[in-house]
Order: sequence, then structure tokens, then C-alpha cells
Amino acid sequence: MKFATKAIHAGQEPDPTTGAIMTPIYQTSTYVQESPGTHSGYAYARGKNPTRDALQKCLAALEGGEYCLCFSSGMGAIDAVAKLFRPGDEILVTDDIYGGTYRMFTKVFAHFGITFKFVNMQDAESIADHITPATKMLWVETPTNPTCKIIDLEACAALAKKHNLMLCVDNTFASPYLQNPLALGADVVMHSVTKYLGGHSDVVMGALIMNDANLYEQLNFIHNSCGAVPGPMDSFLVLRGIKTLHVRMDRHCQNGRAVAEFLRTHPKVDKVYWPGFEDMPNHEVAKRQMKDFGGMLSFTLRGDSIEEAFAMASKTKVFSLAESLGGVESLIGHPASMTHASIPKEERLKVGVSDSLLRLSVGIEDIDDLLEDLKQAIG
Ligand SMILES: *Cc1c(COP(=O)(O)O)cnc(C)c1O
Repeated sequence: MKFATKAIHAGQEPDPTTGAIMTPIYQTSTYVQESPGTHSGYAYARGKNPTRDALQKCLAALEGGEYCLCFSSGMGAIDAVAKLFRPGDEILVTDDIYGGTYRMFTKVFAHFGITFKFVNMQDAESIADHITPATKMLWVETPTNPTCKIIDLEACAALAKKHNLMLCVDNTFASPYLQNPLALGADVVMHSVTKYLGGHSDVVMGALIMNDANLYEQLNFIHNSCGAVPGPMDSFLVLRGIKTLHVRMDRHCQNGRAVAEFLRTHPKVDKVYWPGFEDMPNHEVAKRQMKDFGGMLSFTLRGDSIEEAFAMASKTKVFSLAESLGGVESLIGHPASMTHASIPKEERLKVGVSDSLLRLSVGIEDIDDLLEDLKQAIG
């Protein structure tokens, strides 16, 4: 089956009792057993829920993986992966990852004796310089947040294989429609389902997708033991959102390109970060590993004034000033004061999150209205 068909049908059979075409919301915490211990896998809803099962099957199919586990948030999914490691283990992490991931690694898991090294991964060859006998995993995000850097996943997979490391890829920005890390050699794909997969800014959820049965057993054990599971209503909403993922993504990409090209020629704009520009570092890699360049981009203003960036972010009318991304509506954000506020200033400047950097999640509204809005807000 092709992607668009899977998005609409994978994991979803008509309800056997009524023929309902939509997967029912099994709003239950437990299941009745005929005699003690005779359940058919459904014993208690932290472990298993039919609505969640359907969603997990659908997501596994979209990423071309065998197994999927859904979590109550993207952070819940990352937390489960981090719990695979032990004191003394080292993890190499993309240096400009999502602020929440940086915070969890440095403020929560570092206390348990796991070392996180933040590494510029744009030159994949140079990652090897940081590997030691204690290194256990590469945590990669591409395109990165918010400066849309591209990391070569096939090169990372080759390196991981050579040094016997696990490769985990945060695929939130691309969505499974644009990029499938398992096919490029990753062991685990992570999603903040909250973003493009849910797509309508009404659910917080995370997911992990993998092929290895042993790894699945370990993560499934953590999932059930630690309990960050999503509810059936949210699972239903995401199944419904995914049915239009491919159509939404095509429009996100089309609008993203138009906005990037508009900003690039605007006299008040300094740099535009969008992987579709031919002169962006690793543009060729992006072309190879992604189907298209997505709807996320960021830019800085000439003079790098934080006041001007604040003024612009407050003046947009179609773009709402808000955290998050990937919904049908366009959002504008100021990473230095919002998503990346928990990262020390020296650290954020090193990865390009300067004072005037503004991030756009370009939605699927009419492009004329989006461009008009940006024009009046830049002034
Ligand atoms: C939002 C996000 C997360 C965290 O996911 P939540 O669903 O908010 O917990 C992780 N990685 C990336 C790239 C994100 O955008």
C-alpha cells in the first residue's frame, strides 16, 4: 500500500460488532475476564487499549516499522528511550535540539549518571571524534529546531553500526510523509505526535516506532511500567488527523516554500533558514533523505534587534504568536524567549538562536493571506 492509502486505512478495520467505519473510542480502564487470567491480551488499559492499538498500527505502517508505542506526550516517548540507559553511559546529541529534550537530558537524566554530549552533527564524519567506549546512542534531530539544519541520517546509521550504537531520530519536523529514518538505518523513530501527525493543535502525544523485537520488548516494558500512555479519545483524534496528513503536508511544503522565498528577498530580513535553498548546508542531503522541505522555517532581522522581533511577532494577525508547530493554522514564535528560553544564552547563540530569530510554522491557509500578513507585520 502507498502512503496516502495507509494514512487512511492502516490499522483500522470496520468495527466487528456494528460495522462502524471509524475506530470506536474504547473509553474504558479495564476489561471483564471470564475466569481469572483468561483475557485475550486486554487486561488493563495502561497495558493495552483497542483505540490506541489501531493508532499504533497506523503509525508503524507510516514509518515502515514493525512496532509502535504511543505516549501521553513527545517528552514521555523520549523519557522512555532515555530509561534504556545506565549510569556511566554516554549519549551523543544533536547540538540544537528541541529545548524540552535538552532540558530533560541535562536537568533530569544527567542526575542519574548518564552523560550527554551536544555535538554539531552537520558534518557527519566529525561525530566519530566524540565516540568513546562509553558511548551508547546517537540522538539525532533533523531538520533541527529552530534553524532547520540537516543531518545525514544514512551517514549517522553507518557510524552507529560501526561503533555498535543505537540511533534514535526525532522525526517530528519532517513527519513520516517527508522522511522515514528506519529505512535509512535508524533503530528508533520518535515523534511528537502533537505536531504534524495530530495536525489540528488539539492533542498532546508522542510515539516511538521500531523494527527490532527485543528493543520493542524493553520499551514496551518501560511504557507499561512507567505509565505515560495516551487516552483513547486522544488516540481517536490523532487517527482522524492522520487521514489527511499527506494532503496537509503537501500544502505545508508549498506554502513554506513561498514564505521562505518571500522573506529571502525582503530588505529587513537578514538570514532565512529553510532547507530548500540550494545554498543551505546539506541541501543535497535534504533532497536525498526528504520527499520535500516542510513547512518549518526561521529567519533573523537585519540588526538583530530583539525589540523589532517582538514587535513583528505581536503584529501578525493570521500567524498566531504561540509555541508548538505542525497544525493547520500558521504560528509565529520567538525561540530565544519561548521554546529555547531554558537554554543558556551562550549555548543558544552557538547554535544560531540569536535575539531576533523568529520561527514560523507555516500552516495551510491561503498563501496570499499569509504573505500579506507577514508584509504588514515586518513593516
Ligand atoms: C514538541 C516537540 C517535542 C516534545 O513533544 P511534546 O509532544 O510537546 O511532549 C520533541 N521534539 C520536537 C522536535 C518537538 O517539536
